[in-house]
Amino acid sequence: MSLNYSPSQPCRLHQVPGWDLETDVIVVGFGAAGACAAIEAAGAGAAVTLLEAASGNGGTSALSGGEIYLGGSGGTPAQRQAGFSDETEDLFRYLMMAGGADADAAKVRVYAENSLAHHDWLVAQGVVYKNTFLSERMLEPVTDDCLIWSGSEEAWPFVEHARPCPRGHTPQWNGWGSGRMLMDALAARVEQLGVAIRYDSRVLALIADDANHVHGVVVRMDGRICFARARSGVILCAGGFVMNRDMVRRHAPHLLRSGDPIGTPGDDGTGILLGMSVGGASIHMDQAFLSPRSRSTTAMPPTAMTPCSTRPHNGSSRSMSRHSSRWIAGSTMRCIRTSPWVDWIRCPPARS
Ligand SMILES: Cc1cc2nc3c(=O)[nH]c(=O)nc-3n(C[C@H](O)[C@H](O)[C@H](O)COP(=O)(O)OP(=O)(O)OC[C@H]3O[C@@H](n4cnc5c(N)ncnc54)[C@H](O)[C@@H]3O)c2cc1C
Repeated sequence: MSLNYSPSQPCRLHQVPGWDLETDVIVVGFGAAGACAAIEAAGAGAAVTLLEAASGNGGTSALSGGEIYLGGSGGTPAQRQAGFSDETEDLFRYLMMAGGADADAAKVRVYAENSLAHHDWLVAQGVVYKNTFLSERMLEPVTDDCLIWSGSEEAWPFVEHARPCPRGHTPQWNGWGSGRMLMDALAARVEQLGVAIRYDSRVLALIADDANHVHGVVVRMDGRICFARARSGVILCAGGFVMNRDMVRRHAPHLLRSGDPIGTPGDDGTGILLGMSVGGASIHMDQAFLSPRSRSTTAMPPTAMTPCSTRPHNGSSRSMSRHSSRWIAGSTMRCIRTSPWVDWIRCPPARS
């Protein structure tokens, strides 16, 4: 009967035949976002039900590098141990620049000012950081080390506006993919807090009144259609839409150049459609995380390509090469084509 429900259209409250389940807060999706939301809601004393379409937790978060961008307020333990002191204003300015023209200053401010507390919160949930530093720029460590240069902090034009500091923090885990470790720690905490976890439970539609106030969800649980009421709210944490090729075609057609999207089947855009069904707005739908493995137009240049020398261990001043500054600020594709690293990134032949 799930064909009667669509994530793009709410089920109206008066159509609900009766509640199969009642709780304070419903969290949709058990990736990192859902786990964090459930932990906070349960910690605040709410009865929480977590609905996950898959048969286990993790989502794309468990596939990820688990690396989180943290700093400011003088520095995290890993930053301080490596000899860096990271000021909140530098973190704020870097994030504003990296976010581009429509970066949300208020959100970035909250992020920057609470980043150290965010780190401490993760540690309190059981996420383990070794607090060691690798001075090479990289996507994520292949060892169980923690702190890396993960962004363009040392590159022009960022370096002229924000004092560079490494801020990529990776949980202790040998090899790529420490997102699984991150998820294991968060999931254990979710269970410890007594959150009711329902796997094989796909949310099909929101339940809303005529004013679009949300009262619950229609969910297919173990093959049965159920109506679940949330007295205090529904939190949508159902991931992205890279596996929904129609949505990719509509919002980010440039990504169709890549034949191998990375994610889980859960990345079908349902969460976004659910939010929009009751008047939610979506932003930045054309933007995506691209990795050097994908046949896409961008890649992370190795350290040698961004030889800006502002690190504490050499103490010299900025020496960005023109080539490197073009990599960061100019057309990435153009730089890739002229770069000696073209084999390293396995870029396809350029079209233009
Ligand atoms: C290879 C790779 C590496 C990455 N590395 C990093 C990194 O190091 N650092 C970083 O910050 N980001 C990284 N990212 C991005 C990051 O993984 C994602 O932004 C993040 O995991 C999204 O978390 P989430 O909780 O929103 O979604 P997810 O982790 O995808 O969780 C969403 C969950 O919702 C479930 N779901 C979907 N629809 C429904 C429904 N209708 N009903 C019920 N459940 C539903 C899904 O099954 C899934 O379990 C990486 C991404 C990839 C692909």
